[in-house]
Amino acid sequence: MSETIIKVKNLVKNYGSFQAVKGISFEVKEGEIFGLLGPNGAGKSTTLEIIETLREKTSGEVWVNGFNLDKEPDEIKKIIGVQLQTSGYYPNLKLTELILLFGGLYNRTIDPMNLLEMVNLKDKANAKVKELSGGQKQRFSIATTMINDPKIVFLDEPTTGLDPQARRNLWELVKNIRAKGATVIITTHYMDEAEVLCDRVAIIDAGRIIAMESPDGLIDNLVSSGFERPKEVKKANLEDVFINLTGHSLREE
Ligand code: ADP
Ligand code: MG
Repeated sequence: MSETIIKVKNLVKNYGSFQAVKGISFEVKEGEIFGLLGPNGAGKSTTLEIIETLREKTSGEVWVNGFNLDKEPDEIKKIIGVQLQTSGYYPNLKLTELILLFGGLYNRTIDPMNLLEMVNLKDKANAKVKELSGGQKQRFSIATTMINDPKIVFLDEPTTGLDPQARRNLWELVKNIRAKGATVIITTHYMDEAEVLCDRVAIIDAGRIIAMESPDGLIDNLVSSGFERPKEVKKANLEDVFINLTGHSLREE
């Protein structure tokens, strides 16, 4: 986990006179799950979309797997998987048909059932996207990022709006993607999620990276600065209660 697979240097993005990304630099190592954390409007999606070649930067430099974004964007496109909003999918095609369609776009022969099994949607193979629950839709859209067997997978808030079980199920999926050897960049505003999933996180606020470390390292830094939680921490929280009462397993079907 030591080779750098993404390098971003002094990245700036202006929207008109508004500077959304203010000169950020960071590196992602091969095989990492790297989190971009930050409040709404921090510049997470803008940053990801620039790296994904989907949005023009104002200035700065980006390398992905050694390819320079300005010189070889097509090489970058070949090795990345980008999660799209499921609302954009053809509503009347079955999941298997959609996967074959995407496979065709990437010039790949793939077994749709294999892919659906990976995201735990085998029994929905003949369903249409519009018939899926929120968590299932997210899992399907993550499946479509895997069609070209990417080296790097970009997930932009994959768990926003999901219930606790569906969220946990997605965490397992993200871990499985990494276990297959891919590097994952994920944005979230759920800190529990970042703590469980991410090897390292960059915290972005108003277009600037204000901290970058492992979650443990960040917590240790805060504690060693003398920080203490204002009241004694209970051994469980309300989410634990909810999960305990409603079951750990996937129950959205
Ligand atoms: P995040 O993903 O962290 O919520 P974004 O990257 O989507 O943040 O947005 C960063 C800032 O840039 C926000 O203030 C947003 O309103 C602004 N922004 C994003 N896209 C555009 C655009 N196409 N035109 C103008 N402003 C934009
Ligand atoms: Mg965003």
